[in-house]
Amino acid sequence: MTMANAFGADDFGRLSTMEQEMIARRERVLGPAYRLFYERPLHFVRGEGVWLYDAEGQAYLDAYNNVASVGHGNPAVLEAIGRQAATLNTHTRYLHEGILTYAEALTATFPSELSQVMFTCTGSEANDLAVRIARAYTGGTGIIVTSHAYHGVTSTVAEFSPSLGANVDLGFHVRTVSPPNPNLPLSEIEASFARDVEAAIADLKRHGIKPAMLIVDTIFSSDGVIADPPGFLRAAVDAIRKAGGIFVADEVQPGFGRTGEALWGFLRHGIVPDLVTVGKPMGNGYPMAGLIAQPHIIAEFGRNARYFNTFGGNPVAAAAGQAVLAVIQDQNLVANARSVGAYLKAALETYVGSSPLIASVRGAGLFLGVDVEEDGKPSAIAAARIVNGLRERHVLISASGPAANVLKIRPPLVFSRANADRFMEAFDATLKAIMQKD
Ligand code: PMP
Repeated sequence: MTMANAFGADDFGRLSTMEQEMIARRERVLGPAYRLFYERPLHFVRGEGVWLYDAEGQAYLDAYNNVASVGHGNPAVLEAIGRQAATLNTHTRYLHEGILTYAEALTATFPSELSQVMFTCTGSEANDLAVRIARAYTGGTGIIVTSHAYHGVTSTVAEFSPSLGANVDLGFHVRTVSPPNPNLPLSEIEASFARDVEAAIADLKRHGIKPAMLIVDTIFSSDGVIADPPGFLRAAVDAIRKAGGIFVADEVQPGFGRTGEALWGFLRHGIVPDLVTVGKPMGNGYPMAGLIAQPHIIAEFGRNARYFNTFGGNPVAAAAGQAVLAVIQDQNLVANARSVGAYLKAALETYVGSSPLIASVRGAGLFLGVDVEEDGKPSAIAAARIVNGLRERHVLISASGPAANVLKIRPPLVFSRANADRFMEAFDATLKAIMQKD
């Protein structure tokens, strides 16, 4: 069975003529590099809260999109964006109260050492800036990442994003380490990951490359969602610092409350990074991202290079960001991520052992990964069947991990218990349908 027909269009009917035409137009005008989700791609025209609506007005439960983390079309964020856009939208080279208020509010959510912020428009730009700063601070060039990491699209960042695949070359100064191994006993994970980082440092040095930074996504999203045990990053962070490099926490995925304990994923590891990069949910869809730094790390860089990002941190971005922080706080969304996430995780865990397809469930808060296996082996095909089966039942998720067999469940943070129940109904029906066919 091939991926293309793993959950075939025949099972659920065909694409409408309009959708077929849109796919053809898309290929014509957007070219060959884009990929659509799902066997039967979706065409959404509207979003509200955790729901997306297709062109026929049918509702889909969004259990995947983390950008709209305070809900699609959040009225408070829209109001803030609209009001500021109608008043003034310039950039960071003029004094502006809103930019400063937001920068102060954002940095106040970090440990006190991380007290300065630089704004960008995308997570890729934030990681690109992190490399420049790390290199200026350390005098090194070496970069250590996990073996299936994704950190972004600029040419520098793509060189340390191995999940882009074998056709995208890694930089000669880049070394990959296996992500923390969730199959080890919990007590061994920290030391084992640190040993791998130490080996990568040694290999860089042997090739005459001084280490500049270790960067990890603190929820290891593209590596297959690895959250436990809390604290497992500590020894690796010590190792990179001992070697003269810095530690960068990429919070583009786990940041802004997703892991359900605090606003930032690194906090569950009891560490204070040298730099933190943030993005995606920062403006709930308004493109904004940034880098939060310990001042001594960016001091030298700032003296030697001026920094200006035309759109990054403009007054509208600041208004959007401020509104997002307010909604997260007012609606207790970190606590919601914790409780609804735990509820959903417990429901999924009942399938471990009872379904031959579900091997384990990992994650924190509203970021869950489910290992899918067939005959005891990771199965991308079975994972794709579940993803597409859920899609046909109007529930949206995706799959990730090195073997593409980890279901990635990452809904907006406003996801409720009732939404989780609806999710589980569709999940159960999908597994039953797959088992009946086999
Ligand atoms: N880091 C991580 C961990 C990401 O998941 C992503 C985006 N998927 C990025 C960085 C890049 O962010 P952007 O797409 O905004 O450039």
